[in-house]
Amino acid sequence: MGPPGAGKGTQAARIADRYGVPPISTGDIFRENVAAGTPLGTLADRYMRAGEYVPDDVTDAMVSDRLAQPDCRPGFLLDGYPRTLQQVKQLDAMLTDLDVRLDGVLVLTAGADELVQRLLDRARAQGRADDTEPVIRRRQAVYLQETAPLTAEYAARGVLAEVDGTGRVDHVTDRIHTAISRLRRR
Ligand code: AMP
Repeated sequence: MGPPGAGKGTQAARIADRYGVPPISTGDIFRENVAAGTPLGTLADRYMRAGEYVPDDVTDAMVSDRLAQPDCRPGFLLDGYPRTLQQVKQLDAMLTDLDVRLDGVLVLTAGADELVQRLLDRARAQGRADDTEPVIRRRQAVYLQETAPLTAEYAARGVLAEVDGTGRVDHVTDRIHTAISRLRRR
């Protein structure tokens, strides 16, 4: 977890690689569907362009399908899911069905100004349609309202680790590995 621009995608790819599990990014799956012009992509595109979340039922069904694929059997890393309390409930049900335990939840933190700057830089580099300043501001607001409260839920379960997402990418990765080692020893 972490606000837009915190570096979730970059770090998720590194961590998943290290543990030999697939990184599952709901944002990437939506973007792939937009690019391929699927009905799911057409639906998701409207929300993503506005900086809003795609509806829970659509997102949950997509994740459930993905987690049922064989490459997820040794484990998986979710990037950008769950983002609402409803999604937390649905993920709990999926994990119960799969007989899988949630090892931990990582939250990447960074200051608001740094986040906007990073996203504007990314917009220039990658041209993402939702990386314009008004949409970035909306995404931050939606994160604070819908997703930030999830940290309290996972903290209460004792599975949360907050990691400083500022500074060099390698340093952030090191901090994450330390946090994961601690979570696994609990
Ligand atoms: P991301 O690449 O994780 O920043 O996601 C980009 C966009 O995809 C978000 O701003 C949402 O519109 C949509 N999205 C990604 N994950 C979710 C989710 N778990 N629930 C709802 N919408 C999502």
